Amino acid sequence: MRVGIIGAGQLGQMLGIAGRNLGVECRFVDPGEDPPAAICGDVVRAAYDDADALAALADACDVITYEFENVPVEALQHLGDTPVYPPAMALRLAQDRLDEKRLFDELEIPLPGYHPVGSRAALRDAVDHLGLPMVIKTRRLGYDGKGQYLVRDAADLDAAWDELGSVPLIAEQWVAFDYEVSCIGARNVDGDIEIYPLSRNMHSGGILRTSRSPVDSDALLETASKYVRQMLEHLDYVGVLALELFVVGDKLLANEYAPRVHNSGHWTIEGSETSQFENHLRAVLNMPLGSAESRGHAGMVNLIGEITAATRAQDVGELHDYGKSSRPGRKLGHVTVIGDTPEARDALVEIIDKSLPQT
Ligand code: AMP
Repeated sequence: MRVGIIGAGQLGQMLGIAGRNLGVECRFVDPGEDPPAAICGDVVRAAYDDADALAALADACDVITYEFENVPVEALQHLGDTPVYPPAMALRLAQDRLDEKRLFDELEIPLPGYHPVGSRAALRDAVDHLGLPMVIKTRRLGYDGKGQYLVRDAADLDAAWDELGSVPLIAEQWVAFDYEVSCIGARNVDGDIEIYPLSRNMHSGGILRTSRSPVDSDALLETASKYVRQMLEHLDYVGVLALELFVVGDKLLANEYAPRVHNSGHWTIEGSETSQFENHLRAVLNMPLGSAESRGHAGMVNLIGEITAATRAQDVGELHDYGKSSRPGRKLGHVTVIGDTPEARDALVEIIDKSLPQT
């Protein structure tokens, strides 16, 4: 079996490695100079929307998937009879924060208040609707906290508009959440579903720093799983989907979803019976899904900007080095630790944390 993957970054690399263990060959299209997935499959160096490159990939593969959500949706139309999963609709809605929020509304998945913003006047209306603080985000092409502006005071509105107003925006209520979680689910072509235990995620500077799973709350898992199932079924989804949520008391508010394997699920490589990467390939190839049960208490620490000698020397976790060159703010790798208890896991996470570059 052969899977064509649009994008050859670290997510593609981890899909490719999972493919090897399944006897599935992965091939990639990516314009990058030195794409991480090149270690585990052929990479055609072409733009994500290069019609010829995509048509050749589709001819050579049983199914096409993608590893990042800014793939132009039109590009998926060059693929002839080869199926593309996740479905283009799931990609299209995830690319526009307003459409994404309307989908949550349609499915009655609770979310923070929001207001579309296309003018300075609409920005002032947003304050009337949502109150302050509120966060202004670009509707499209935002990631890792980029294209966002926190408005604490009405006096900030002009500066927010000057910085972001050249493109369509959305304003959101700023949520004083207790913590953030994500819920990852997989659905295959036959409609079978597996849902992973929740992951508790810590961000800083808009970038994911650590994930810990499972979360000690059956009620939250039940609610989040219900939302993910609704989304998978409504979208006739195939593949892995990650839903990010804010926890406020005993409530969950949806923030966004990713129609792909997700950074907050990297711990599943060591921490689950079947990794998110293997289950994504199983789903798109319509193989039986593997169990999403945990093996112990997992922690994942992202390695950002630099992988230090101390992190390389640690012997408490599994280091994944994506082979990328160092650059501030760049995700270069991660470490996964597994403990028998949450406390043992947290102690291991702390050891890894201490090995990170000290700022
Ligand atoms: P996003 O790109 O929407 O995932 O935002 C990146 C991070 O910013 C989130 O993971 C949160 O930590 C924070 N954030 C985004 N939106 C909100 C919000 N409405 N209220 C509070 N924090 C937010």
